[in-house]
Amino acid sequence: MAPMKKECDYLVLGGGSGGLASARRASGMYGAKAIAVEVKRLGGTCVNVGCVPKKITWNAASISDTIKDAKSYGFDVKQGNPFDWKTFTDKRAAFVERLNGIYEKNLEKDKVEYFHGLATFVDPHTVKVTLDDNTEVDIKAKKILVAVGGHPNLPNMPGAELGITSDGFFELSQQPKKVAVIGAGYIAVEMAGMLHALGTETHLFIRQDKFLRTFDPMIQDKIVAEYERIGVHIHKNSSQSKVEDLGDGNKRLHYKDSDGEGTLDIDCLLWAIGRSPELEKLNLDITGVKLNDKGHIKTDDYQNTNIDHIYSLGDACDRGFELTPVAIAAGRRLSERLFGGIPDAKLSYENIPSVVFSHPTVGSVGMTEPAAREKYGDENVKVYNSSFSDMYFSMMEQDEKAPTSYKLVCSGKEEKVVGLHILGRGSDEVLQGFGVAIKMGATKKDFDRCVAIHPTAAEELVTMT
Ligand SMILES: Cc1cc2nc3c(=O)[nH]c(=O)nc-3n(C[C@H](O)[C@H](O)[C@H](O)COP(=O)(O)OP(=O)(O)OC[C@H]3O[C@@H](n4cnc5c(N)ncnc54)[C@H](O)[C@@H]3O)c2cc1C
Repeated sequence: MAPMKKECDYLVLGGGSGGLASARRASGMYGAKAIAVEVKRLGGTCVNVGCVPKKITWNAASISDTIKDAKSYGFDVKQGNPFDWKTFTDKRAAFVERLNGIYEKNLEKDKVEYFHGLATFVDPHTVKVTLDDNTEVDIKAKKILVAVGGHPNLPNMPGAELGITSDGFFELSQQPKKVAVIGAGYIAVEMAGMLHALGTETHLFIRQDKFLRTFDPMIQDKIVAEYERIGVHIHKNSSQSKVEDLGDGNKRLHYKDSDGEGTLDIDCLLWAIGRSPELEKLNLDITGVKLNDKGHIKTDDYQNTNIDHIYSLGDACDRGFELTPVAIAAGRRLSERLFGGIPDAKLSYENIPSVVFSHPTVGSVGMTEPAAREKYGDENVKVYNSSFSDMYFSMMEQDEKAPTSYKLVCSGKEEKVVGLHILGRGSDEVLQGFGVAIKMGATKKDFDRCVAIHPTAAEELVTMT
């Protein structure tokens, strides 16, 4: 059968955070004829195998922590309450499915035409979409956005395929009894923290002696020490050589770490060693779009690729902030520029706040202390530190208290706050407001002028000396 033919102003490849936001703005707000293509589930990584199911799992892990803490407040809570993994994961999946439906309705509402299938470039202006029933649609577009996101990497090692990635984490039908998580980025740290809090014996293998290595050194030191205190087994300076299948879902991991060579028998192995753009099946070569040495699509500040009518954003591009709100904002700005008559619309990638849903949570916006010292010189940088015990822990024994640590990095005579790094209960919620202040260029004096909210942990950020 000859393929169906379609033409449009704006073709968006990838129905994830960035693609959907951009297509909806182009069509819903500016009336462009937009088509979106998605091969898996609408909403992309964030909705299906990222932020959303992750945060719900983190909520479950936090409830587990609270149940443990409740005794200190006088509650007679049975410790070790069984956690019903199946009930929890079924409900989580149902919630995500509801979101998939809402995303589809939103496309309809904004008059974005939607095809479910695999997109492949045929020439620089035409994309073939292979639909679920194997029929094809050829779509010719004036402008094309490549927002195909990324996928988790597996190492090249015997038995690596016996492990899962973050995608597989959300498909686990049973709670692992004993897990090895490999990786030092936020996904590894979050997954290790959640599994540990829910009662899984958790081993975290890191290549050096710290994790979250792009964060300020204060955060790295405190969070590693805290994970050790709560009982996550951290294998430092580690490498892995092979994985053996022991049958019945069990496997043996062969590794080296600071203590020498060893093996670990586990029922779950989770690789969280990085992600790569999802470009393999796109046939992007045919368009002449250039990639960087890590395989990300090269873009400028306006999300332009080197080919005039092709754009990219989100995890597929080389801007370096693989976060949902970044992809959404870049997508909206792009449509405002292309279809909304706002020629200089672009996302500012400066001072983007980010949070790690670790135990406790971590938040960061702006420069780390070493980065600020390098940029401004030691004599132009002043740092304020505060470490204390959150009042939440006042009812607990000394060895049960999680740390709270805050750092402000200021530059110049006026002490402009150029970096804010926080670790402690509620850091995820605290950070957003401070992100606004820093984006506005707040100085230490501005912080000090804001009256503290007492008793909170965050008040410390406006009373530091
Ligand atoms: C475990 C995990 C936790 C995360 N937690 C957070 C968090 O807490 N906060 C946060 O901000 N970010 C988080 N992220 C990151 C966030 O999910 C991504 O940055 C975001 O989804 C990127 O959006 P995107 O539009 O670039 O790509 P995606 O959302 O990945 O969407 C791309 C879509 O393109 C589709 N696609 C690919 N190739 C084709 C093709 N050839 N044809 C048709 N469709 C195609 C894919 O199926 C996918 O649905 C997390 C990620 C992971 C993996």
